[in-house]
Amino acid sequence: METQNMGDGFRTARTVLVVEDESVNQQMLGKILGGSYVCEFANNGKEAIRLLMADARRYSLILLDLHMPEMDGYEVLRSVKKDTVLKRIPVIVLTSEKDAEVMSLQLGAVDFIPKPYDLPEVILARVKRTIELSENRDIISATQSDLLTGLFTREFFLEYVFLHDKSYPYVGKDAIAVNINRFHLINEMRGRDFGDLVLQRVANRLRAYALRQHGIASRTDADTFLMYVPHVVEPDKLIDELVDGISDLLDNPRLRFRMGIYPSVDRALDIPRRFDCAIFACNSIRGDYTKPIAFYDDKMHEQETYNERLVNDVEKALERSEFVVYYQPKFNVKGEKPELTSAEALVRWNHPELGMIRPDIFIPLFEQNGLVHNVDRFVWKKAAMQVKAWRDKYSVTLPVSVNVSRIDLLEPNFLDDITQIAVTSGITPADLLLEITESAYTDDGGDIVTLVKALRDRGFRVEMDDFGCGYSSLNMLTSLPIDVLKLDIGFVRNIHTSERDYGFLELMMDIARFLSVQVVAEGVEHEEQLALLKKAGVDVIQGFYFSKPLPADEFAYFIEQKLAG
Ligand code: C2E
Ligand code: CA
Ligand code: CA
Repeated sequence: METQNMGDGFRTARTVLVVEDESVNQQMLGKILGGSYVCEFANNGKEAIRLLMADARRYSLILLDLHMPEMDGYEVLRSVKKDTVLKRIPVIVLTSEKDAEVMSLQLGAVDFIPKPYDLPEVILARVKRTIELSENRDIISATQSDLLTGLFTREFFLEYVFLHDKSYPYVGKDAIAVNINRFHLINEMRGRDFGDLVLQRVANRLRAYALRQHGIASRTDADTFLMYVPHVVEPDKLIDELVDGISDLLDNPRLRFRMGIYPSVDRALDIPRRFDCAIFACNSIRGDYTKPIAFYDDKMHEQETYNERLVNDVEKALERSEFVVYYQPKFNVKGEKPELTSAEALVRWNHPELGMIRPDIFIPLFEQNGLVHNVDRFVWKKAAMQVKAWRDKYSVTLPVSVNVSRIDLLEPNFLDDITQIAVTSGITPADLLLEITESAYTDDGGDIVTLVKALRDRGFRVEMDDFGCGYSSLNMLTSLPIDVLKLDIGFVRNIHTSERDYGFLELMMDIARFLSVQVVAEGVEHEEQLALLKKAGVDVIQGFYFSKPLPADEFAYFIEQKLAG
């Protein structure tokens, strides 16, 4: 194993815990082992357990006397072997009785050293062998390496990082996370085998780099790689190497990578946490293809703390109704005069200390941990009750569209849940339009299509949100069960200033006509945009041109206006 061979000056001595009540014996063992190991002493079982609990990872071996006051060796052995962390530390029993040997081996000791200690070389050799064996076993048992790439698996990698720190206590290390942008699309469009090939190429480059730098590399899940290497001075060069590894396979290979670096890690942080920081940095540039590298720094730490705060506060916020639903009108522009047809429910968080928080701050965060589902259920209920309230007050039904996150669709009860929300609020599923982003379809494929079919069978109408930026293939679109396409805001933004963008719009409209679905354009701010959208055949318009999202009571103005004719 590599660690075993790192016999340079940095390697630190392993620590042996000697549990023995007689000071003569303590001194003897200290003398025998002291040249090769750091010895710590416990005078009885209780003290031993206390030391072990305080810092289990410090000890490479326990030498355990059986007869001691307070808590004897058997009891220590039992507690150690029962504990999931402590049980990894090998125990050698110190004894003068044959019977005791059998018993302690049964209890999980790996070896024994007979008293009196008259063969120092033998004792030293046994201790050495036991520690080496146990370290090798630890490494091997952690399911070693990932079959596809041959890199270490996460579990093994983290274990190795620990050993690495022990071996190189004075070298500054970086924790690095590397991810492939939109890897699922590579799989989807070129097939899994091709995707595997890409992963292998990336893995090979990372392994070569790690070896050269005396570091280690791992693949932790699909397309996430972690590395632990001495401080990287020129991270761009590392990206260059990765790019070089795949440049014959993919177009625009430079846009494929994002890398998060937590430089010169603080070793006081536990090991998984150091890589969380690297991953956080890496995720901070997801979708920003102009920036392949991000460093974990104080600002990011602040951001992370803020995010943590939001996550911690959600439950309370839901109880106290701090989430408020705003409504933005949608107008049908087919006729002479724009006509109010529905509204989109958009959530905001009125946080008592942090103020009004926009959904694009917290929704993506809550999508990462599933909390979005709780928020969304709250919004769906509110929206459904609002439809009912307006109907009761004005005797008209104004359908409201709600956003359904990709994460919501993964909830096993989603279908029944949302149906029940509609029914118990006194409206019908047709009064709720469900906006599902295009990327949900392209990320998860088949299951979503089935689910959306089921939703429509129950009477819900489904709108494909953010259309145009999710890379649906035409083939996929034709098999999609949707009622409405909602053009992504990005397509609308420049249609009045860029001919090329207007060309795109016409293309989208061709697709919509081919699918015979209604088209909604959002983010419409200017008269010129409205005119061009109308000209292209868009049915429904949403945007600041008509109104920004409003609280329910202010929104009522639009209903009253509609009724006034
Ligand atoms: P979205 O679903 O694409 O919603 C449209 C966003 O565009 C809204 O931002 C809206 O206020 C904004 N917008 C509307 N008209 C204009 C315009 O003319 N110009 C510009 N520049 N922007 C306009 P908002 O409310 O900040 O929401 C942002 C995103 O947060 C939403 O994008 C949606 O993805 C998410 N979101 C909002 N509410 C919910 C919710 O209840 N559940 C879920 N899962 N996501 C939500
Ligand atoms: Ca939406
Ligand atoms: Ca949208």
